[in-house]
Amino acid sequence: MRRLPTSPGLDERGLQRALERLREVVRARGLKNSSVREIIARAALTYEGHFSIDDLVRGLRGDALVDAHPATVYRVLPLLVEAGLIEATLVSSKAGSRYERCFEREHHDHLVCTKCGTVVEFCFEAIEVLQRDLAERFGFELTGHVHELFGTCRPCKQSDKASGGATHGRAPSR
Ligand SMILES: [Zn+2]
Ligand SMILES: [Zn+2]
Repeated sequence: MRRLPTSPGLDERGLQRALERLREVVRARGLKNSSVREIIARAALTYEGHFSIDDLVRGLRGDALVDAHPATVYRVLPLLVEAGLIEATLVSSKAGSRYERCFEREHHDHLVCTKCGTVVEFCFEAIEVLQRDLAERFGFELTGHVHELFGTCRPCKQSDKASGGATHGRAPSR
């Protein structure tokens, strides 16, 4: 079992590979290349951690090209998913689903604290093997899975004990 470090975001060369992949999908769809789309792709690919669409819109605020059109961000994200650059994550979280970069990043699953929102990203090969084994037994060919565990992280548990219920003051990290 390994805990993954926080995603640092893609470097410039990785970004170029990702944008090339996006351009292929755009071409195959018969769409035109657009610099606004690529600005949004860059923002998504360099975002550290998990983000909601609103997080991304907020991060792009001040960019003259994108500023006026948050709707554009909503339109572009499915294309980034289709190109395999980002994927939906934390889909069963009460706070609403998030996105994260999956391009050139290894598969991982999530532990989520329901009190403060802390997310631990882990890769547990034993669980991966069991899931593949289980699917095989039912004659399923797996195309993907979402594995999310909910609970209370250690600091929340400790401050619960200390104060009899209140959460600790740490801001949620995503
Ligand atoms: Zn997994
Ligand atoms: Zn993640």
